[in-house]
Amino acid sequence: AKEAGRARMTLYDPSMDADREQRNALELDLRIAIESGDLTLAYQPLVDAATQALTGVEALVRWNRPGHGPVSPEVFIPIAETSGLIESLGLFVLRKACETAKQWPELNVSVNVSPGQFRNPAFTDYVRYVLKQTEIEASRITLEITEGYMIQNPQRTRQSIERLKGLGVKVALDDFGSGFSSIGYLRQFGFDRIKIDRSLVMGVNEDKRQREMLQATVALARSLDIPVTAEGIETEGQAVAMRLFGCDCLQGYLFGKPMVAEQITDMLNELRAA
Ligand code: C2E
Ligand code: CA
Ligand code: CA
Ligand code: CA
Repeated sequence: AKEAGRARMTLYDPSMDADREQRNALELDLRIAIESGDLTLAYQPLVDAATQALTGVEALVRWNRPGHGPVSPEVFIPIAETSGLIESLGLFVLRKACETAKQWPELNVSVNVSPGQFRNPAFTDYVRYVLKQTEIEASRITLEITEGYMIQNPQRTRQSIERLKGLGVKVALDDFGSGFSSIGYLRQFGFDRIKIDRSLVMGVNEDKRQREMLQATVALARSLDIPVTAEGIETEGQAVAMRLFGCDCLQGYLFGKPMVAEQITDMLNELRAA
């Protein structure tokens, strides 16, 4: 009887229906948000490690779901990936970031690209199209990709990166150190930059082993002549350490949280006036 009970449980679990229903509702709302242009972008400062001068921003998508409030991209990006919405979401983000960046000629702009976009053979074509449409200087755009897809499809990744670089954009490896990638592997992809994941940076002043691993990681990247950004910097101590290890670019709440475009413009105006 116990066995049968368990079997029935796996066949019918009302809480699973509730989950699925919630997910479907979220997916539907997301579809509507994309179609009606209700997603927005926040921009987080990227600073020079030596001078702490603002050198760029990372565009991060934001969704304020009607009746629910803000939903984290960590929640809705994976749903966009599995429901075929990532193409249009990604196109929106890229176009919006390029359009907005035109008012900040002195800044570089990083845009996250998810595996579902990168996998599309037409991805390079639509990057080319957006660059042309928005008349942005390609060299100011960095596309950030994560390692998951890259490891599964090294050959195609290499080709895609080459094509993108042919357009003049830069390509960065995001979240480095959070997964399984070996650094020896990196050279062959031709990344213009590596971003060290926040999970590694966090422990830099607490954990000796983590500190040594971080130090070795940055040193290896630099021995391949690849510049390194440290993300998730929250304290002065972390900033000092990461700079010491050889990161040339820093990002984190210490320098600024993701903010609306107008705030970036204000920051630039203050810098220009100074
Ligand atoms: P990510 O690309 O690694 O972006 C950095 C995330 O860390 C952002 O979270 C940012 O707000 C957060 N962060 C930055 N500095 C600090 C810090 O000092 N402390 C802490 N605690 N957090 C910090 P966010 O905006 O919630 O984005 C989460 C992830 O969602 C991103 O991680 C990225 O993987 C994905 N994502 C965000 N926007 C987009 C997008 O437009 N397209 C795609 N494909 N993915 C996106
Ligand atoms: Ca990123
Ligand atoms: Ca990252
Ligand atoms: Ca991350």
